[in-house]
Amino acid sequence: MDSVGVAAAAPDAGPGPAWQSKCPWGAPSTTSISCSLADVMSEQLAKELQLEEENAAFPEVVAAAEGPFITGENIDTSSDLMLAQMLQMEFDREYDAQLRREEKKINGDSKVSISFENYRKVHPYDSDSSEDEVDWQDTRHDPYRADKPTTTPRRGFIGKGKDITTKHDEVVCGRKNTARMENFAPEFQVGDGIGMDLKLSNQVFNALKQHAYSEERRSARLHEKKEHSTAEKAVDPKTRLLLYKMVNSGMLETITGCISTGKESVVFHAYGGNSATEDKVIPPECAIKVFKTTLNEFKNRDKYIKDDYRFKDRFSKLNPRKIIRMWAEKEMHNLTRMQNAGIPCPQVVILKKHVLVMSFIGQDQVPAPKLKDVTLSSEDMKKAYYQILNMMQQLYRECNLVHADLSEYNMLWHDGKVWFIDVSQSVEPTHPHGLEFLFRDCRNVSQFFQKGGVAEALNERELFNAVSGLNITADNEVDFQAEIEALEKMNEDHVQNHGKKLSTFSSDGDPPIYDE
Ligand code: ADP
Ligand code: MN
Repeated sequence: MDSVGVAAAAPDAGPGPAWQSKCPWGAPSTTSISCSLADVMSEQLAKELQLEEENAAFPEVVAAAEGPFITGENIDTSSDLMLAQMLQMEFDREYDAQLRREEKKINGDSKVSISFENYRKVHPYDSDSSEDEVDWQDTRHDPYRADKPTTTPRRGFIGKGKDITTKHDEVVCGRKNTARMENFAPEFQVGDGIGMDLKLSNQVFNALKQHAYSEERRSARLHEKKEHSTAEKAVDPKTRLLLYKMVNSGMLETITGCISTGKESVVFHAYGGNSATEDKVIPPECAIKVFKTTLNEFKNRDKYIKDDYRFKDRFSKLNPRKIIRMWAEKEMHNLTRMQNAGIPCPQVVILKKHVLVMSFIGQDQVPAPKLKDVTLSSEDMKKAYYQILNMMQQLYRECNLVHADLSEYNMLWHDGKVWFIDVSQSVEPTHPHGLEFLFRDCRNVSQFFQKGGVAEALNERELFNAVSGLNITADNEVDFQAEIEALEKMNEDHVQNHGKKLSTFSSDGDPPIYDE
């Protein structure tokens, strides 16, 4: 509790925002009680103090509310939700701080200690580090950035001379505690306390808070099954907040639901809005790819990014959360390169931290089927094959990229053609394992089309040469791969000796053109 300065906000904090009267947790069912004018005044004071405190704790909320992206008409409902999220997060952090204090108290100097880690509300990686609030992308046009930094006086007292009131004042503190009960979960019965001039001591308040939490957790456990099925719960509170902001800003109209939950990402469908401040046109339908901030899945992806020189300098210094943002950033850059080369792929709309918004491939909320799920006529199958061959060549030569996870799972069939998606792991061909990744891609593609009855489909080795323009002559897979690795090693040696990569592997002049 003590992390929040009581009187830190400037006294002229401005008019009370709409949410003050409309608590998102719902007002506790206060049956009307008759009370004196003094009581009403005290309640008012308690509320004012609480408000001041919250203004101090969430200065960015105030700034955001003045920002260009939250317009007057949507401030009352949607930002209620946002504020609720922020309050909840702050509350969770306080809860954890309290937990840490208790843990310390119990353990003392003992050699054997008990850990309360599992009871924490906020995951250690989620705990705030301010530099995390910076986006990867160019922040000059960041619509969420406050116009000017808000400074918060941390005086810890209000009033002047003999009227001075510090945050340790018993009466003020007690009233504040009472007012804070509003923050408890809506199911938690706090009775009429909030409406009266109750002064709760810190001790009583903390006990109540603990109880409120254990109740909340109990009920959360009961509702676990139900909640897991809803799309919203697929993302953590911070991500939800980002999504709300996107809707709030008018960039998105509505987020309709979840298209896919994978190991590393969750993809949502949304209808595009008509954001006034954004100069580019928002597609009518969008896909929102949320890179999961649970970190385990990403560990084995290290090798893609660690050796990618574009990200080399940054990799070592980053915390896991930033690495995940880097995946999102990589997908954005790679999609942009592909877009510029005219390869059919989703168009990037915006990147916010680990959330990438792009155009939706599909129609009326129905995503285009993956190549593995669609039954094509033999004619379309052949068409798809040649298209993919061309796209792979373009990707390699014009975008200087290897997809690195290309298969019938990451190609969609839409509008009578193939679209490439899922390019966060794509690397440049001179990546230390770039050619191996390309060979794997080629194997997936040629196996799919050979099984699919496309007689013209090249085998994986021919396809590799056709895409890369290299001329590896080995006629069996083992030797072929050995040659690939030798080339990769040659490139690495070149890096060692010359401090830079070979510009390209291909030196055979123009590649052969394959067409129907
Ligand atoms: P993952 O890493 O989880 O495989 P993907 O980028 O492949 O992430 O997305 C998962 C699924 O979401 C895809 O298989 C596809 O069905 C759907 N999807 C992703 N992006 C789009 C998009 N832009 N339009 C339509 N559907 C998409
Ligand atoms: Mn995928």
